[in-house]
Amino acid sequence: MSTTGSDPSRRPVALPDLSREAVPGERVALAPGQLQLRPTRRGKAPSHLADLTLAERRAAVVEMGLPAFRANQLSTHYFDHATTDPDDLTDIPKDLRQTLVERFFPPLLELVSMQAADHGATQKMLWRLFDGSLVESVLMRYTGRVTLCISSEAGCGMNCPFCATGQMGLTRNLSAAEILEQVRIANAKLAAGEVPAQEGENPVTRVSNIVFMGMGEPLANYRPVATVCKRLNAPSPEGFGMSARSITVSTVGLAPAVRKLIKEEIPVTLAVSLHAPDDALRDELVPINTRFDVDEILSAAYEYFQATGRRVSIEYALIRDINDQAHRAQLLADRLIAKGGTGWVHVNPIPLNPVKGSKWTASDPFVEKRFVETLRAAGIRATIRDTRGSDIDGACGQLAAEVLESDAHRADREARVARVEAIATQAS
Ligand code: SAH
Repeated sequence: MSTTGSDPSRRPVALPDLSREAVPGERVALAPGQLQLRPTRRGKAPSHLADLTLAERRAAVVEMGLPAFRANQLSTHYFDHATTDPDDLTDIPKDLRQTLVERFFPPLLELVSMQAADHGATQKMLWRLFDGSLVESVLMRYTGRVTLCISSEAGCGMNCPFCATGQMGLTRNLSAAEILEQVRIANAKLAAGEVPAQEGENPVTRVSNIVFMGMGEPLANYRPVATVCKRLNAPSPEGFGMSARSITVSTVGLAPAVRKLIKEEIPVTLAVSLHAPDDALRDELVPINTRFDVDEILSAAYEYFQATGRRVSIEYALIRDINDQAHRAQLLADRLIAKGGTGWVHVNPIPLNPVKGSKWTASDPFVEKRFVETLRAAGIRATIRDTRGSDIDGACGQLAAEVLESDAHRADREARVARVEAIATQAS
Protein backbone atom coordinates (compact mmCIF):
# COMPACT_ATOMS: atom_id res chain seq x y z
CA MET A 1 0.00 0.00 0.00
CA SER A 2 1.21 3.49 -0.79
CA THR A 3 1.98 5.44 2.34
CA THR A 4 2.28 8.86 0.78
CA GLY A 5 -0.07 11.16 -1.02
CA SER A 6 -3.81 10.67 -0.87
CA ASP A 7 -5.02 7.40 0.56
CA PRO A 8 -6.06 5.32 -2.48
CA SER A 9 -8.47 3.22 -0.44
CA ARG A 10 -10.40 6.29 0.52
CA ARG A 11 -14.15 6.18 0.07
CA PRO A 12 -15.87 9.24 -1.32
CA VAL A 13 -17.34 11.02 1.67
CA ALA A 14 -20.50 13.08 1.71
CA LEU A 15 -19.35 16.53 2.75
CA PRO A 16 -20.76 17.48 6.10
CA ASP A 17 -22.96 20.50 6.48
CA LEU A 18 -20.68 23.44 7.17
CA SER A 19 -23.41 25.98 7.64
CA ARG A 20 -25.37 24.65 10.57
CA GLU A 21 -27.94 27.27 11.37
CA ALA A 22 -27.15 29.05 14.55
CA VAL A 23 -29.93 28.80 17.08
CA PRO A 24 -29.29 31.16 20.00
CA GLY A 25 -29.17 29.34 23.31
CA GLU A 26 -29.42 25.91 21.67
CA ARG A 27 -27.55 23.24 23.57
CA VAL A 28 -27.91 20.02 21.63
CA ALA A 29 -25.14 17.78 20.42
CA LEU A 30 -24.02 18.04 16.81
CA ALA A 31 -25.03 15.23 14.49
CA PRO A 32 -22.20 12.78 13.74
CA GLY A 33 -19.63 14.25 11.38
CA GLN A 34 -21.38 17.60 11.30
CA LEU A 35 -19.06 20.57 11.54
CA GLN A 36 -20.21 23.87 12.93
CA LEU A 37 -18.26 26.82 11.63
CA ARG A 38 -20.68 29.54 12.72
CA PRO A 39 -21.13 30.19 16.42
CA THR A 40 -24.59 30.30 18.01
CA ARG A 41 -23.70 33.54 19.80
CA ARG A 42 -22.24 36.62 18.24
CA GLY A 43 -21.92 39.06 21.15
CA LYS A 44 -18.59 40.83 21.48
CA ALA A 45 -16.84 41.04 24.84
CA PRO A 46 -16.19 44.57 26.15
CA SER A 47 -12.96 46.09 24.84
CA HIS A 48 -10.04 45.56 27.22
CA LEU A 49 -6.45 46.74 27.49
CA ALA A 50 -5.16 43.32 26.47
CA ASP A 51 -7.01 43.56 23.12
CA LEU A 52 -4.87 46.55 22.18
CA THR A 53 -1.24 46.94 21.15
CA LEU A 54 0.85 49.22 23.34
CA ALA A 55 0.61 51.95 20.68
CA GLU A 56 -3.19 51.60 20.61
CA ARG A 57 -3.33 51.77 24.42
CA ARG A 58 -1.26 54.95 24.38
CA ALA A 59 -3.53 56.49 21.76
CA ALA A 60 -6.62 55.53 23.80
CA VAL A 61 -5.18 57.15 26.92
CA VAL A 62 -4.30 60.33 25.02
CA GLU A 63 -7.86 60.40 23.68
CA MET A 64 -9.02 60.51 27.30
CA GLY A 65 -6.89 63.65 27.76
CA LEU A 66 -4.16 61.84 29.72
CA PRO A 67 -0.44 61.51 29.07
CA ALA A 68 0.54 58.45 27.03
CA PHE A 69 2.78 57.06 29.78
CA ARG A 70 -0.34 56.13 31.76
CA ALA A 71 -0.82 53.34 29.22
CA ASN A 72 2.64 51.99 30.04
CA GLN A 73 1.85 52.06 33.76
CA LEU A 74 -1.45 50.22 33.26
CA SER A 75 0.27 47.69 31.01
CA THR A 76 2.99 47.01 33.59
CA HIS A 77 0.36 46.43 36.26
CA TYR A 78 -1.52 44.06 34.00
CA PHE A 79 1.28 42.03 32.41
CA ASP A 80 3.98 42.18 35.13
CA HIS A 81 2.02 42.44 38.37
CA ALA A 82 -1.07 40.51 37.16
CA THR A 83 -3.43 43.02 38.75
CA THR A 84 -6.42 45.10 37.66
CA ASP A 85 -7.31 46.27 41.19
CA PRO A 86 -7.50 50.09 41.49
CA ASP A 87 -5.86 49.88 44.94
CA ASP A 88 -2.74 48.36 43.38
CA LEU A 89 -2.27 51.20 40.87
CA THR A 90 -0.23 53.22 43.36
CA ASP A 91 1.71 55.17 40.71
CA ILE A 92 -1.53 56.59 39.27
CA PRO A 93 -3.43 59.42 41.04
CA LYS A 94 -6.32 58.04 43.09
CA ASP A 95 -9.01 60.09 41.33
CA LEU A 96 -7.97 58.63 37.95
CA ARG A 97 -7.80 54.98 38.91
CA GLN A 98 -11.50 54.15 38.77
CA THR A 99 -11.98 55.79 35.35
CA LEU A 100 -8.99 53.95 33.91
CA VAL A 101 -10.01 50.62 35.39
CA GLU A 102 -13.54 50.98 34.00
CA ARG A 103 -12.21 51.81 30.53
CA PHE A 104 -9.38 49.27 30.33
CA PHE A 105 -10.13 46.47 32.77
CA PRO A 106 -13.82 45.54 32.41
CA PRO A 107 -14.41 42.24 34.24
CA LEU A 108 -14.36 39.52 31.57
CA LEU A 109 -14.16 36.27 33.54
CA GLU A 110 -16.21 35.45 36.59
CA LEU A 111 -15.08 32.40 38.53
CA VAL A 112 -17.95 29.90 38.81
CA SER A 113 -16.09 27.02 40.42
CA MET A 114 -12.67 25.63 41.05
CA GLN A 115 -11.64 22.03 41.46
CA ALA A 116 -8.28 20.67 42.53
CA ALA A 117 -6.66 17.29 41.91
CA ASP A 118 -3.21 15.72 42.27
CA HIS A 119 -2.91 17.26 45.77
CA GLY A 120 -3.46 20.78 44.48
CA ALA A 121 -0.94 20.50 41.64
CA THR A 122 -3.80 20.53 39.09
CA GLN A 123 -6.54 23.13 39.34
CA LYS A 124 -9.47 23.49 36.98
CA MET A 125 -11.29 26.79 36.82
CA LEU A 126 -14.75 27.23 35.30
CA TRP A 127 -15.41 30.79 34.07
CA ARG A 128 -18.59 32.60 33.13
CA LEU A 129 -18.14 35.18 30.38
CA PHE A 130 -20.06 38.46 30.07
CA ASP A 131 -22.90 36.81 28.10
CA GLY A 132 -23.19 33.71 30.29
CA SER A 133 -21.04 31.44 28.08
CA LEU A 134 -18.86 29.03 30.06
CA VAL A 135 -15.21 28.14 29.50
CA GLU A 136 -12.54 26.36 31.51
CA SER A 137 -8.82 26.57 32.07
CA VAL A 138 -6.56 24.05 33.78
CA LEU A 139 -3.41 24.94 35.67
CA MET A 140 -0.80 22.22 36.13
CA ARG A 141 2.24 22.62 38.36
CA TYR A 142 5.25 20.45 37.65
CA THR A 143 8.74 20.67 39.13
CA GLY A 144 10.11 24.04 38.09
CA ARG A 145 7.35 24.95 35.64
CA VAL A 146 3.66 25.66 35.47
CA THR A 147 1.57 24.90 32.39
CA LEU A 148 -1.77 26.56 31.77
CA CYS A 149 -4.23 24.92 29.40
CA ILE A 150 -6.44 27.66 27.98
CA SER A 151 -9.72 27.84 26.06
CA SER A 152 -10.00 29.79 22.83
CA GLU A 153 -13.71 29.22 22.18
CA ALA A 154 -16.81 28.48 24.23
CA GLY A 155 -17.60 25.00 22.95
CA CYS A 156 -16.14 23.74 19.67
CA GLY A 157 -17.57 23.14 16.22
CA MET A 158 -15.14 20.40 15.17
CA ASN A 159 -17.20 17.52 16.57
CA CYS A 160 -14.46 14.95 17.25
CA PRO A 161 -16.52 12.07 18.69
CA PHE A 162 -14.02 11.14 21.44
CA CYS A 163 -13.84 14.68 22.86
CA ALA A 164 -16.34 16.04 25.39
CA THR A 165 -16.10 19.64 24.15
CA GLY A 166 -16.64 18.39 20.61
CA GLN A 167 -20.12 17.25 21.55
CA MET A 168 -21.24 20.73 22.56
CA GLY A 169 -21.12 22.58 19.31
CA LEU A 170 -19.65 26.06 19.07
CA THR A 171 -21.23 28.69 21.28
CA ARG A 172 -18.88 31.59 20.71
CA ASN A 173 -15.35 32.64 19.80
CA LEU A 174 -13.43 34.33 22.60
CA SER A 175 -11.86 37.77 22.29
CA ALA A 176 -8.09 38.09 22.69
CA ALA A 177 -8.54 39.63 26.14
CA GLU A 178 -10.90 36.85 27.27
CA ILE A 179 -8.12 34.37 26.45
CA LEU A 180 -5.33 36.49 27.96
CA GLU A 181 -7.32 37.05 31.16
CA GLN A 182 -7.09 33.28 31.80
CA VAL A 183 -3.30 33.73 31.87
CA ARG A 184 -3.28 36.94 33.91
CA ILE A 185 -5.52 35.43 36.60
CA ALA A 186 -3.40 32.26 36.75
CA ASN A 187 -0.33 34.48 37.26
CA ALA A 188 -2.16 36.34 40.04
CA LYS A 189 -2.99 33.02 41.74
CA LEU A 190 0.62 31.87 41.51
CA ALA A 191 1.96 35.21 42.80
CA ALA A 192 -0.48 34.99 45.74
CA GLY A 193 0.86 31.54 46.64
CA GLU A 194 -2.41 29.80 45.84
CA VAL A 195 -0.65 27.00 43.98
CA PRO A 196 1.83 25.83 46.62
CA ALA A 197 5.06 24.13 45.65
CA GLN A 198 5.92 20.75 47.07
CA GLU A 199 8.35 20.51 49.94
CA GLY A 200 11.88 21.38 48.95
CA GLU A 201 10.79 22.94 45.64
CA ASN A 202 11.07 26.60 44.81
CA PRO A 203 7.62 28.05 44.12
CA VAL A 204 6.98 29.00 40.49
CA THR A 205 5.39 32.45 40.52
CA ARG A 206 4.33 32.75 36.86
CA VAL A 207 2.87 30.52 34.23
CA SER A 208 5.82 29.24 32.19
CA ASN A 209 4.02 27.26 29.46
CA ILE A 210 0.77 27.80 27.62
CA VAL A 211 -1.10 25.11 25.71
CA PHE A 212 -4.18 25.91 23.61
CA MET A 213 -5.67 22.58 24.60
CA GLY A 214 -8.73 23.73 26.52
CA MET A 215 -12.07 24.25 24.84
CA GLY A 216 -12.19 25.19 21.21
CA GLU A 217 -10.23 25.00 17.98
CA PRO A 218 -7.74 27.88 18.23
CA LEU A 219 -7.18 28.19 14.49
CA ALA A 220 -10.94 28.52 13.89
CA ASN A 221 -10.72 31.70 16.00
CA TYR A 222 -7.69 32.81 14.08
CA ARG A 223 -7.31 36.59 14.54
CA PRO A 224 -7.78 36.73 18.34
CA VAL A 225 -5.56 33.66 18.79
CA ALA A 226 -2.77 35.18 16.68
CA THR A 227 -3.08 38.35 18.78
CA VAL A 228 -2.87 36.27 21.97
CA CYS A 229 0.31 34.56 20.74
CA LYS A 230 1.86 37.94 20.01
CA ARG A 231 0.83 39.32 23.38
CA LEU A 232 2.10 36.28 25.29
CA ASN A 233 5.44 36.60 23.55
CA ALA A 234 5.93 40.39 23.50
CA PRO A 235 8.16 41.76 26.26
CA SER A 236 6.58 43.86 29.02
CA PRO A 237 4.86 46.30 28.97
CA GLU A 238 3.46 45.19 25.58
CA GLY A 239 2.85 41.64 26.76
CA PHE A 240 3.79 38.79 29.11
CA GLY A 241 7.29 38.25 27.66
CA MET A 242 7.02 34.46 27.40
CA SER A 243 9.23 32.53 25.02
CA ALA A 244 7.47 31.47 21.81
CA ARG A 245 8.62 27.88 22.18
CA SER A 246 6.79 27.58 25.50
CA ILE A 247 3.47 28.38 23.76
CA THR A 248 1.75 25.46 22.01
CA VAL A 249 -1.07 25.95 19.54
CA SER A 250 -2.93 22.68 19.10
CA THR A 251 -5.11 22.24 16.00
CA VAL A 252 -7.40 19.66 14.42
CA GLY A 253 -5.53 20.49 11.22
CA LEU A 254 -6.88 23.61 9.55
CA ALA A 255 -4.10 23.59 6.94
CA PRO A 256 -4.69 27.08 5.48
CA ALA A 257 -4.61 28.60 8.97
CA VAL A 258 -1.35 26.77 9.76
CA ARG A 259 0.15 28.39 6.65
CA LYS A 260 -1.19 31.76 7.76
CA LEU A 261 0.39 31.27 11.18
CA ILE A 262 3.81 30.84 9.53
CA LYS A 263 3.50 34.37 8.16
CA GLU A 264 2.86 35.86 11.62
CA GLU A 265 6.50 35.09 12.48
CA ILE A 266 5.77 34.13 16.07
CA PRO A 267 7.41 30.71 16.16
CA VAL A 268 5.11 29.05 18.67
CA THR A 269 5.13 25.28 18.94
CA LEU A 270 2.56 23.66 16.66
CA ALA A 271 0.68 20.53 17.71
CA VAL A 272 -1.48 18.64 15.22
CA SER A 273 -4.24 16.39 16.54
CA LEU A 274 -3.81 13.55 14.09
CA HIS A 275 -5.24 10.51 15.93
CA ALA A 276 -5.16 8.33 12.80
CA PRO A 277 -2.67 7.96 9.92
CA ASP A 278 -5.27 6.83 7.35
CA ASP A 279 -8.01 9.03 5.93
CA ALA A 280 -10.79 6.45 6.26
CA LEU A 281 -10.43 6.38 10.04
CA ARG A 282 -9.47 10.04 10.46
CA ASP A 283 -12.57 11.16 8.54
CA GLU A 284 -14.54 9.65 11.43
CA LEU A 285 -12.35 10.61 14.39
CA VAL A 286 -11.55 14.16 13.27
CA PRO A 287 -14.35 15.13 10.86
CA ILE A 288 -12.53 18.20 9.44
CA ASN A 289 -10.33 15.58 7.73
CA THR A 290 -12.98 15.43 5.01
CA ARG A 291 -11.84 18.98 4.11
CA PHE A 292 -8.11 18.82 4.90
CA ASP A 293 -6.88 15.25 4.77
CA VAL A 294 -3.86 13.60 6.40
CA ASP A 295 -1.54 14.42 3.52
CA GLU A 296 -2.68 18.05 3.41
CA ILE A 297 -2.25 18.68 7.14
CA LEU A 298 1.12 16.90 7.25
CA SER A 299 2.29 19.07 4.33
CA ALA A 300 1.24 22.24 6.15
CA ALA A 301 2.85 21.00 9.38
CA TYR A 302 6.11 20.22 7.57
CA GLU A 303 6.09 23.69 6.01
CA TYR A 304 5.64 25.04 9.53
CA PHE A 305 8.73 23.15 10.66
CA GLN A 306 10.74 24.35 7.67
CA ALA A 307 9.77 27.99 8.22
CA THR A 308 10.17 28.11 12.00
CA GLY A 309 12.68 25.38 12.79
CA ARG A 310 10.27 24.24 15.51
CA ARG A 311 9.69 20.52 15.74
CA VAL A 312 5.97 19.80 15.28
CA SER A 313 4.08 17.70 17.85
CA ILE A 314 1.66 15.07 16.61
CA GLU A 315 -1.12 14.38 19.12
CA TYR A 316 -2.51 10.87 19.11
CA ALA A 317 -5.16 9.75 21.62
CA LEU A 318 -4.81 5.98 21.88
CA ILE A 319 -8.30 4.47 21.72
CA ARG A 320 -8.52 0.76 22.49
CA ASP A 321 -8.86 -1.34 19.34
CA ILE A 322 -9.71 1.72 17.26
CA ASN A 323 -6.46 3.45 16.29
CA ASP A 324 -3.83 1.73 18.46
CA GLN A 325 -2.74 -1.18 16.24
CA ALA A 326 0.97 -1.69 15.47
CA HIS A 327 0.21 -1.42 11.74
CA ARG A 328 -1.23 2.06 12.31
CA ALA A 329 1.89 3.04 14.29
CA GLN A 330 3.96 1.83 11.34
CA LEU A 331 1.79 3.67 8.81
CA LEU A 332 2.08 6.82 10.92
CA ALA A 333 5.88 6.53 10.97
CA ASP A 334 5.98 5.85 7.21
CA ARG A 335 3.85 8.87 6.38
CA LEU A 336 5.81 11.20 8.67
CA ILE A 337 9.12 10.02 7.25
CA ALA A 338 7.87 10.27 3.66
CA LYS A 339 6.93 13.88 4.37
CA GLY A 340 10.21 15.08 5.86
CA GLY A 341 12.34 12.37 7.45
CA THR A 342 12.53 11.70 11.16
CA GLY A 343 13.82 14.99 12.54
CA TRP A 344 10.85 17.28 12.07
CA VAL A 345 8.24 15.75 14.37
CA HIS A 346 7.65 14.34 17.79
CA VAL A 347 4.66 12.06 18.39
CA ASN A 348 2.76 12.46 21.66
CA PRO A 349 0.46 9.51 22.20
CA ILE A 350 -1.93 10.01 25.12
CA PRO A 351 -4.19 7.35 26.56
CA LEU A 352 -7.77 8.31 25.79
CA ASN A 353 -9.64 9.96 28.65
CA PRO A 354 -12.97 8.24 28.21
CA VAL A 355 -15.87 10.63 27.74
CA LYS A 356 -19.00 9.87 29.77
CA GLY A 357 -21.53 7.86 27.83
CA SER A 358 -18.99 6.59 25.28
CA LYS A 359 -17.86 2.98 25.15
CA TRP A 360 -14.44 3.91 23.82
CA THR A 361 -11.68 3.55 26.34
CA ALA A 362 -7.91 3.90 26.69
CA SER A 363 -5.57 1.39 25.11
CA ASP A 364 -3.99 -1.31 27.16
CA PRO A 365 -0.60 -0.22 28.61
CA PHE A 366 1.03 -3.07 26.66
CA VAL A 367 -0.51 -1.81 23.41
CA GLU A 368 0.52 1.73 24.27
CA LYS A 369 4.09 0.56 24.73
CA ARG A 370 4.02 -1.37 21.43
CA PHE A 371 2.72 1.74 19.64
CA VAL A 372 5.56 3.89 20.98
CA GLU A 373 8.19 1.24 20.30
CA THR A 374 7.02 0.80 16.70
CA LEU A 375 7.43 4.54 16.15
CA ARG A 376 10.84 4.61 17.83
CA ALA A 377 12.06 1.62 15.87
CA ALA A 378 11.28 3.63 12.73
CA GLY A 379 13.34 6.53 14.11
CA ILE A 380 10.42 8.75 15.16
CA ARG A 381 10.61 10.46 18.57
CA ALA A 382 7.63 9.54 20.73
CA THR A 383 6.70 10.28 24.33
CA ILE A 384 3.52 9.29 26.14
CA ARG A 385 1.80 12.40 27.44
CA ASP A 386 0.65 12.37 31.02
CA THR A 387 -3.02 12.68 31.85
CA ARG A 388 -3.41 15.18 34.63
CA GLY A 389 -6.64 15.94 36.40
CA SER A 390 -8.78 13.15 35.00
CA ASP A 391 -10.59 12.81 38.34
CA ILE A 392 -11.91 16.36 38.07
CA ASP A 393 -12.78 16.08 34.37
CA GLY A 394 -9.87 18.44 33.89
CA ALA A 395 -7.88 16.23 31.58
CA CYS A 396 -7.60 16.67 27.83
CA GLY A 397 -10.90 16.47 26.06
CA GLN A 398 -12.96 16.52 29.24
CA LEU A 399 -13.91 20.17 29.30
CA ALA A 400 -17.59 20.60 28.54
CA ALA A 401 -20.66 22.20 29.91
CA GLU A 402 -23.76 20.00 30.01
CA VAL A 403 -24.97 18.88 26.62
CA LEU A 404 -28.39 17.59 25.78
CA GLU A 405 -28.62 14.72 23.36
CA SER A 406 -31.84 13.78 21.60
CA ASP A 407 -32.75 10.14 20.89
CA ALA A 408 -32.18 10.74 17.19
CA HIS A 409 -28.71 12.04 17.88
CA ARG A 410 -27.96 9.10 20.14
CA ALA A 411 -29.01 6.65 17.42
CA ASP A 412 -26.84 8.49 14.87
CA ARG A 413 -23.92 8.51 17.25
CA GLU A 414 -24.20 4.80 17.94
CA ALA A 415 -24.38 4.07 14.21
CA ARG A 416 -21.23 6.05 13.75
CA VAL A 417 -19.39 4.21 16.51
CA ALA A 418 -20.21 0.96 14.71
CA ARG A 419 -18.88 2.46 11.45
CA VAL A 420 -15.64 3.55 13.10
CA GLU A 421 -15.14 0.10 14.57
CA ALA A 422 -15.63 -1.48 11.15
CA ILE A 423 -13.03 0.86 9.61
CA ALA A 424 -10.65 0.35 12.52
CA THR A 425 -10.44 -3.39 12.00
CA GLN A 426 -10.63 -3.43 8.17
CA ALA A 427 -6.96 -3.20 7.36
CA SER A 428 -5.57 -5.31 10.22
N1 SAH B 1 -9.02 21.85 18.99
C1 SAH B 1 -7.66 21.65 19.39
C2 SAH B 1 -7.49 21.61 20.89
C3 SAH B 1 -8.29 20.52 21.50
S1 SAH B 1 -7.89 19.76 23.03
C4 SAH B 1 -7.17 20.34 18.80
O1 SAH B 1 -7.97 19.54 18.35
O2 SAH B 1 -5.97 20.11 18.76
C5 SAH B 1 -6.25 19.23 22.96
C6 SAH B 1 -6.00 17.78 22.61
O3 SAH B 1 -6.76 16.86 23.39
C7 SAH B 1 -6.30 17.47 21.18
O4 SAH B 1 -5.22 16.73 20.65
C8 SAH B 1 -7.52 16.60 21.28
O5 SAH B 1 -7.71 15.79 20.16
C9 SAH B 1 -7.21 15.83 22.54
N2 SAH B 1 -8.37 15.16 23.12
C10 SAH B 1 -9.68 15.48 22.99
N3 SAH B 1 -10.45 14.60 23.65
C11 SAH B 1 -9.62 13.71 24.23
C12 SAH B 1 -9.83 12.58 25.06
N4 SAH B 1 -11.05 12.23 25.42
N5 SAH B 1 -8.74 11.91 25.47
C13 SAH B 1 -7.50 12.28 25.11
N6 SAH B 1 -7.24 13.35 24.34
C14 SAH B 1 -8.29 14.06 23.89
